[in-house]
Amino acid sequence: LSTPSADSNGRLHLPDRLLAVRRAAGAADLDGFLVCDRADVRYLSGFSGSSGWLLVGRDVAVLITDARYTEQAVLESPGWTSVIVSGSLAAGLCDQFPATVRLGVDPSAISLALWNQIEAVERVRWVQGASPVRALRLCKDATEIDAIRAAVTLAERALVQWLPGLRSGITEQEAAADLDYTCRRLGATGMAFETIVASGARGALPHARPGGSRLRAGDRVVVDFGCVVDGYCSDMTRSLIVGPAADAEWATVHAAVDGARAAAIRAIAPGAATRAVDAAARDVLSEAGLATYFTHSLGHGVGLEVHEGPRLATGSEDVLCTGMVVTVEPGVYLPGRGGIRLEDMVLVSADGADRLNELPTDAMHIATA
Ligand code: ZN
Ligand code: ZN
Repeated sequence: LSTPSADSNGRLHLPDRLLAVRRAAGAADLDGFLVCDRADVRYLSGFSGSSGWLLVGRDVAVLITDARYTEQAVLESPGWTSVIVSGSLAAGLCDQFPATVRLGVDPSAISLALWNQIEAVERVRWVQGASPVRALRLCKDATEIDAIRAAVTLAERALVQWLPGLRSGITEQEAAADLDYTCRRLGATGMAFETIVASGARGALPHARPGGSRLRAGDRVVVDFGCVVDGYCSDMTRSLIVGPAADAEWATVHAAVDGARAAAIRAIAPGAATRAVDAAARDVLSEAGLATYFTHSLGHGVGLEVHEGPRLATGSEDVLCTGMVVTVEPGVYLPGRGGIRLEDMVLVSADGADRLNELPTDAMHIATA
């Protein structure tokens, strides 16, 4: 079987990725891998369907999918042999290898139901371990960075267009729907996750779902959302105020959270431990007496998935390297009163940190009706 070449756009470096996975198999004393994770499948083969697995061996590059994707598999994944199965994935694995092989599979990427289908396939000995594709995905290449930049830019344009149309009296749900609509109209192929619009006391719930609460004058509103462009995600948070700012205490909290964000970005550089970046933000909040209200980790990698490696958190063993794209999102949540979170995306570059967001992090104002 031949090695896949670049896709029709000539933009994806798919052969290099396949080569790296084959090398990882050799290094782990394996004959190949079964790749099950949807983002891993897309990264390695270009296939973007909702149901597909890759069988990678020294001379094997097989995309297993179902009849809905017969044509799409050929279009998106030239060079991969597509095998169409109906029912069991096991049918696609049989007869691919002339002799018994040792194949790696990532247990975190396969369901128990799927495992039951493949466990007894003849001539395959399974070895469970972390996906080598996930490791490759940590550092983004130029094409991926372009897509991520486009997703960040689109989200910021949407935010700027959306904000003037908001008025107090609108519900969180309506505000979130309008933001999603604006993103889609500007060209996003989807939202990276369910948009968060949390007003008033609900802002103290870091992952609140938008509900029927109406935005009222004086409310602090946390807006956290992201777009998908070319399969790649963005993720940003801003903290808004309904009406003119009046509250000095909240202004102090906002300044502390923004200071934590800036300190974290300054700590970002190739070779930096992600826990040190998390600590840089936490130290600023600690000086302001707010550290106990920062209840989650500082950030995460972003790429084909909105949450992927590395983790920027207390206790994380991850180390930053050039090409990683991460979020920095300190927040302060005062129970019963509300919250402020500010989230930017940052590319780790040879010089340090390249902030991908361009919008300021000051409180933005929503007009009162
Ligand atoms: Zn976010
Ligand atoms: Zn995030």
